[in-house]
Amino acid sequence: MQGLMMHMPLLISSVLQHAERHHPTGEIVSRRTEGDIHRTNWGQIAKRAKKLANRLIADGVQQGENVATLAWNGYRHVEIYYAVSGMGAVVHTLNPRLFPEQLVYIINHAKDTTVFFDTTFAPLIKAIAPACPTVKRWVQLCDEAVMPADPAVAGCLNYEAYIAQASDVYDWPELDENAACGLCYTSGTTGNPKGALYSHRSTVLHAMAACTPDALGISSRDTVLPVVPMFHVNAWGLPYIGAMVGAKMVMPGGALDGESIYKLMEAERVNISAGVPTVWLGLLNYVQQHGLKFSTFNRTVIGGSAAPPAMIKTLNSLGVEVIHAWGMTELSPLGTVCRLKAKHMDMPLEAQQKVLEKQGVAIYGVDMKIVNDEGDELPWDGQAFGDLLVRGHWVVGGYFGGDGKNAFTVDKAGKQWFSTGDVSKIDPDGYMQITDRSKDVIKSGGEWISSIDLENVAMGHPAVQEAAVISAFHPKWDERPLLVVVRKPNAEVGRDELLKFYDGKVAKWSIPDDVAFVEELPHTATGKIQKLKLREQFKDYKLP
Ligand code: ADP
Repeated sequence: MQGLMMHMPLLISSVLQHAERHHPTGEIVSRRTEGDIHRTNWGQIAKRAKKLANRLIADGVQQGENVATLAWNGYRHVEIYYAVSGMGAVVHTLNPRLFPEQLVYIINHAKDTTVFFDTTFAPLIKAIAPACPTVKRWVQLCDEAVMPADPAVAGCLNYEAYIAQASDVYDWPELDENAACGLCYTSGTTGNPKGALYSHRSTVLHAMAACTPDALGISSRDTVLPVVPMFHVNAWGLPYIGAMVGAKMVMPGGALDGESIYKLMEAERVNISAGVPTVWLGLLNYVQQHGLKFSTFNRTVIGGSAAPPAMIKTLNSLGVEVIHAWGMTELSPLGTVCRLKAKHMDMPLEAQQKVLEKQGVAIYGVDMKIVNDEGDELPWDGQAFGDLLVRGHWVVGGYFGGDGKNAFTVDKAGKQWFSTGDVSKIDPDGYMQITDRSKDVIKSGGEWISSIDLENVAMGHPAVQEAAVISAFHPKWDERPLLVVVRKPNAEVGRDELLKFYDGKVAKWSIPDDVAFVEELPHTATGKIQKLKLREQFKDYKLP
């Protein structure tokens, strides 16, 4: 017997309609590339999204067509998210930190027909436009006054003029909830970038799950500042989550340095934020150097790379609770979130902290398992580690254009799993802990050494600003860990002191063989340490 409930497709437009009807005055504050602070609300965003949808349709943009953005976090970018997906086309977020040739590859691979870009990226657009034959229109996110006399591309329009004449009346179409709504490419640290093609259904379900208390726990009482860019897996879903609950959103634009973020947080009374570990380094440096405090900021999501325990402690000491989360572009991105369970509540703080350092428990909607090389499932005993596989409502089932087929397996029961490329262990309470990306793991004489564990120790040293551990060639053990360190400004620490710092913190045989001091570490387009490049840099390194 069938249930007798209404069927309503889970559509991106329904999220905006909800915000428009129930949270119209919920604010969206943006630091614009124009330099000023701009204020709008969900009611206005909905109106302008309809204008944009009408204009795109008038221009002949079809459902299923890929429409790209090369933009910071800001209200116009939010409008594009809703207008493009709402009318049935696909928002393809481009990461401006990729190399120009990677951008060209992605735009051509996706056959983008329209590109909206922030003024900051006009020089980049000028450089790549001639190599992007599928793009029919380029729209700069500004008004007439900012538009240069010599635009990045001939015939380039400005966004305000583009939508000015269009009607703000539009009935969002009732699409198939499984239709594509967004496209985001992985950063391509292993070969060409691959596209994760999100559906309306997967995106809405992901946002609903992300709001729950044991996930990010975001409500209408929150003021959210996504430091994570809208081109990094849809700012981890925050533009959808914000509309779904009617939260105030504070969009930082391109000013992501410690001082700008701190000032914006204070001015707008931000209480929750989200970003990769490297952005918190800048903010913490600024706050500590100036002896500042946060007056409202009390919670942050850290993911994208392992949150070092020392960083968690420092944030805690400033009154900020850290929510450690693990995810991937292929997971929209949330997979696991680390929150305490009831059984942990009476534990001493130190023991709670140990739990909170892990990557966390799968949120409802995602299942995971660890397997050995033969594909057999390994026990959840907190000891065994293996390849992490996931499945779920917002996990990719294939890549755009049929790429990367070997990332998918089907188990004996006929269930499809996605292979994450991460190596991890899971404890009996279901807390997953990443050991490494499989390509970063160090194999020393047949034993595996976790680079993350070694980096976390180094990050606990007061003189260390940033640390990465890579494998270096060793004639006897094949690979041995090499610690590469950036010292804090004006801080002094030498090799022997740093290596001694490992005593008693990790197994003796896993302590790095040597330390190399550098001015800075290479970062990927999403702000993570680029191990591949680092390994190249140190490929001829002679260990002592
Ligand atoms: P890319 O790093 O290629 O830009 P993603 O942002 O999708 O693409 O990265 C996903 C990867 O980031 C994961 O597979 C994992 O290796 C790493 N990662 C994400 N969150 C965490 C975390 N909390 N701890 C450790 N590693 C993480």
